[in-house]
Amino acid sequence: MERDIRVRKIKDGTVIDHITAGQALNVLKIIGITREFPKTTVTVAINVPSRKAGLKDIVKVEGKELRSEEVDKIALIAPKATINIIRNYQVVEKKEVSIPPKLEGVLKCANPNCITHFEPVKTKFHVEKKEPIKLRCHYCERVMSEAEIVRQF
Ligand SMILES: [Zn+2]
Repeated sequence: MERDIRVRKIKDGTVIDHITAGQALNVLKIIGITREFPKTTVTVAINVPSRKAGLKDIVKVEGKELRSEEVDKIALIAPKATINIIRNYQVVEKKEVSIPPKLEGVLKCANPNCITHFEPVKTKFHVEKKEPIKLRCHYCERVMSEAEIVRQF
């Protein structure tokens, strides 16, 4: 076990590890820390040396488990992230994120003329490229870049 704050044990919550370096703040936006959980203890480590992959970010959130929609969004910007669910100081579940081949109802289309803004249809995107992420709208074919996706978080 390492000795520093990075691995301080939390009682219940989630540790998101192996986040692509520099994406920790976007992960915080995705999981709604500032809005929904203003009093939650959150530990953020940015640019931590990693044996596997140069540098990585880590986010630890006490008292929160992630919804699948949040996990899907994290996968878009941090495809190597691992999610560790902690209950009573133990890791009860460890999973790797994966980018779903299709994303439905998770993001808005960046094309202001897209039908999804006018009709009650669920947005749907196909994965065009994984890293950095590019998504193609099922309805208008518009391709969204990582920057456009991150802006929505
Ligand atoms: Zn569209």
